Amino acid sequence: MNCDDTIKCIERFVNHDLTSREMEGFLDHVEECSACYEELEIYYTVAVTMNYLEKNVDGNYNIPLRLKEHLSQERQRLQRQKIFRYCIAVLLGILGACLIWFLFSMHIPVVQIFMQFGAQLFSVIE
Ligand SMILES: [Zn+2]
Repeated sequence: MNCDDTIKCIERFVNHDLTSREMEGFLDHVEECSACYEELEIYYTVAVTMNYLEKNVDGNYNIPLRLKEHLSQERQRLQRQKIFRYCIAVLLGILGACLIWFLFSMHIPVVQIFMQFGAQLFSVIE
């Protein structure tokens, strides 16, 4: 993700509206690019302050720290999601191997019986 794309994603980041793929590119970029991080911090500060004022709620007023926590939580969420997907892939691999094993152990004798039956049919026809 480049600077232009990152700047366009800031509002959606604040509104929790980025896809996982966009979030990963966004996090990678703002961790490396200080200009975009500053832009994010300004937007985030304004958005969080407006939210506090609108809803009149108490909260963490150390907004730069809150942004760092938010970024860290999103990174952790992505990592958990990757681990979950990896586990699902491994599980599907194991299920696939079991299915293949099942088909070989259960259906090949059936196939052989059909082939023998077919061979007998051919011998009768000839
Ligand atoms: Zn940038």
